[in-house]
Amino acid sequence: MRRLLAPLLLLALVDCTRQAPPARVAIVGIDGAAWANLDPLIERGALPNLARLRREGATAELVVDSAQSPESWTSLATGHHPPEHGIQQQPGVEGSTFAATAQQLKVKRLWDMAGERGRRVLVANYWVTGKVYPVNGVMIGRESDETFPPEIQRLNRPDWQPGQHGERIRQLALGAAKTGLMEAALDHDPDLDLVILPIYAYDQALHMLWDEWEAGELLEGDHPPPGLTALPADQQARIREGHGVVLETAKLADRLVGLAMRYAGEDGYVMLVSDHGHRAADPSMRRVAISRSLLDGRPGTAEQGRFTVDGVTVTLEPVEHRSRPPIPQLGYVLRYPRLTFEGEGAEAVRERFLALTDEAGAPLFRPEGAALAPADALLAHAHSALGRYDTDAFSIFVNSGAHGIEDHGVFGLLGPDVQAGPIQSEVDSVDVTPTALWLLDLPVGRDLAGAPVTAALSPAGQEARRVEQVDTYEDGTRPWVTPQMPGITPEERERLKALGYIQGE
Ligand SMILES: [Zn+2]
Repeated sequence: MRRLLAPLLLLALVDCTRQAPPARVAIVGIDGAAWANLDPLIERGALPNLARLRREGATAELVVDSAQSPESWTSLATGHHPPEHGIQQQPGVEGSTFAATAQQLKVKRLWDMAGERGRRVLVANYWVTGKVYPVNGVMIGRESDETFPPEIQRLNRPDWQPGQHGERIRQLALGAAKTGLMEAALDHDPDLDLVILPIYAYDQALHMLWDEWEAGELLEGDHPPPGLTALPADQQARIREGHGVVLETAKLADRLVGLAMRYAGEDGYVMLVSDHGHRAADPSMRRVAISRSLLDGRPGTAEQGRFTVDGVTVTLEPVEHRSRPPIPQLGYVLRYPRLTFEGEGAEAVRERFLALTDEAGAPLFRPEGAALAPADALLAHAHSALGRYDTDAFSIFVNSGAHGIEDHGVFGLLGPDVQAGPIQSEVDSVDVTPTALWLLDLPVGRDLAGAPVTAALSPAGQEARRVEQVDTYEDGTRPWVTPQMPGITPEERERLKALGYIQGE
């Protein structure tokens, strides 16, 4: 009897906090996705779920307001541009967006808005969530391994594995982070109204392997250019491997779209978004990057800025170097890293870098005062086009893919009353949050920069689903604060205590 009653009670509790049954909305965000890059793979049948969305859904290029992931992802989640939402570059500090914290946030995000209106949400692995905080549903952290509620973490399902090139993908830290946990959380909780599922590996793979991807597409084609077929066998193998790695990350993204489709069901909506597109890097944007997954066991890539090895802060400063690569059309200026070390044990970590040599035993770095500069062996290796250099500690490669604000992302909508085909209006990143609110039968804030993409529905669908408005969702509260955040008010602390988030105080 108890066993039967408990779920019924739970259902009753959930129901009384909800308004009229809304359509379920499942959003998949593929970092760096552009139709121009995905369509050839869709046409070849490699991405079945994206193919269905492209065929049966309403799709458009997504105009973005930033090509910096943290800024752009926050625009997607707020309906505001960076100056209004607060996640933006600090003046004069290159790369500072990537160190942005939730403390800078000025407005609520989609899951905060939907949650406070009684919709149950899941947001997973989202930029600038920092430490997880209480939401009406589930939050899986990105910058931490925490979840809210904590029991979700104990579901502990491993990340999805690629079909091929698994070892190389692991080495380059291009795995589909937290996908196992996302799937487990959805299996665990069949009653979520809004789920938000981002994936970043495809963008990272394109940064590292654009040249290989592009050359691989040519090699796969019916008429590969003689310049490529004449390359030595090992270079061709390297191209095919890099191309395969990018393809596998695209397939993992496609699998996430499939998960969203299953969860949304036939009555719900699947929305596809990306934070920007991707293309070949201009000469000035080509940089040597270090994949440090093997160095300190944590995934990530650094091409500038800082990372930490054994508690020592390693700072990478770009050093320009003009290159004469063997393939003339790929001429570029490389920016090599100069490394400085700070903290207890700096000398030992510096020694580890100094000990790195190429196959012939030539050192990759040379001392320059207390810093390390790239040595001839590193210059020689990295400057071969389509090149990369693996050590036992990390991979060094030319970042041959890049994105700017002109590189549009993707937008797609699949679900009831969607009018298949290209959307006949411009779709902007700030329209994503208003569109989700609208589909969830929630009012849209008049203060948002964007508007619902009503043109994605048929005229009859638009008639049946009117846009309701409210002045704003902002009421001075900051649902995203955590006990550790500087500047947290006594009221915010009390609220967290009441939610059981702060214990034993
Ligand atoms: Zn991005």
